[in-house]
Amino acid sequence: MSGGTIVMKFGGTSVADATRLKGAAKRIVEKFEAGHRVVAVLSARGKETDRLISDAYEISDAPEPREMDMLLSTGERVSCALCAMAISDLGHEAISLTGSQAGIVTDTSHTKARILDVRADRITSALDEGKIVLVAGFQGVSTSKDVTTLGRGGSDTTAVALAAAVGAEECEIYTDVPGVFSADPRIVPEARKLDIVSFEEMLEMSSSGAGVLQLRSVEYARNHGVRIHCRSSFDHSPGTVVVSEQETMENPLVTAVTHSTGEARVTLTGVPDTPGVAGRIATALAEANVNVDMIIQNDPVSADAPAEMSFTVPRDDLRTAKGALAPVVAELGIGGIATDESMGKVSIVGAGMKSHPGVAAKVFTTLGEHQINIQMISTSPIKISCVIESDRVPDAVRALHSAFELQGEGTIRPEQPFGEFAS
Ligand code: ASP
Ligand code: MG
Repeated sequence: MSGGTIVMKFGGTSVADATRLKGAAKRIVEKFEAGHRVVAVLSARGKETDRLISDAYEISDAPEPREMDMLLSTGERVSCALCAMAISDLGHEAISLTGSQAGIVTDTSHTKARILDVRADRITSALDEGKIVLVAGFQGVSTSKDVTTLGRGGSDTTAVALAAAVGAEECEIYTDVPGVFSADPRIVPEARKLDIVSFEEMLEMSSSGAGVLQLRSVEYARNHGVRIHCRSSFDHSPGTVVVSEQETMENPLVTAVTHSTGEARVTLTGVPDTPGVAGRIATALAEANVNVDMIIQNDPVSADAPAEMSFTVPRDDLRTAKGALAPVVAELGIGGIATDESMGKVSIVGAGMKSHPGVAAKVFTTLGEHQINIQMISTSPIKISCVIESDRVPDAVRALHSAFELQGEGTIRPEQPFGEFAS
């Protein structure tokens, strides 16, 4: 009667206190008793990772990244050991493993390591012995044998990588919201839970502000064809499945409105209009590990006049970005750097817009009607993003959500606060 292997990942709020942790253990046991082989990936409890980070900064202004990973990886370990105890009380055998014990091999970039390989033989032999396997999320062991962590939200990626490695039927992401929504329900109360989303749409959504799944987990899932089911840990209702575009059947014009309020804009003025300059600027930023989002450069109409280049970075990276640019500015004779920290971004995502003109016009017109000034624009085949003042972001999200009629009938209203959705 054995069903297939399932990976179940529980987020921080789903294991925050003893009652919830026991609830997660019960959910895992239910799945096991239904005949599945179960690998469960747990996050650190509640706000534990934030707490550990602030502990580190109380001790040092610049904590060593290697030691930071030793510290941060403990949170997930605690969750797994406690959950193994709870499962044992429910009459089943469970074994908890650190990322390293589970065979998750990463590169050496501490605090944001990438998974290179998953050597899952220890997991598969424990499954063969009839055990439930619990794996500490968000961590691995580097090719130089140090403990690494995978960046904030990294347990999602652990879960997807394990699902690929053990050939799981599905990777279930249990969280404190009923699924992926057509907009953040804290801003748009009538936002609709989406039943199905394609990998491509989810990638655009995760990279433009939807906090429900870590971007890298979606990338990994798409590359390895792992089906994700994002659902509530508080009830049994179906959530959102993230699958390949062939499986989504119909492509709505617009699927969701996403946003972020933590952007900063950097404008370089008096940029010499010669080949190679953009490359120098981008390389300096890349070497400092700054994630540049939107880039706009427009050459002057008249020959010989200098150009202007603007780009956005996460507000938290602004200091690093300025530091990285200073030597390039001096060396290339760039006129000046201006920055604006009060930027936000609103995006609409939908696989159907590929084949329908006029979506951009509707976005711009809608924002205009609400007196919202668009400062930068960028597009992909299935996304349109506008940089606007961050305090206008909620208005923009509501306006676009209603202009594209994304609200649902009988929208499911979750009982729980949207803790993880925000992150
Ligand atoms: N505990 C880590 C974080 O808060 C990883 C995770 O929960 O996915 O970012
Ligand atoms: Mg998360």
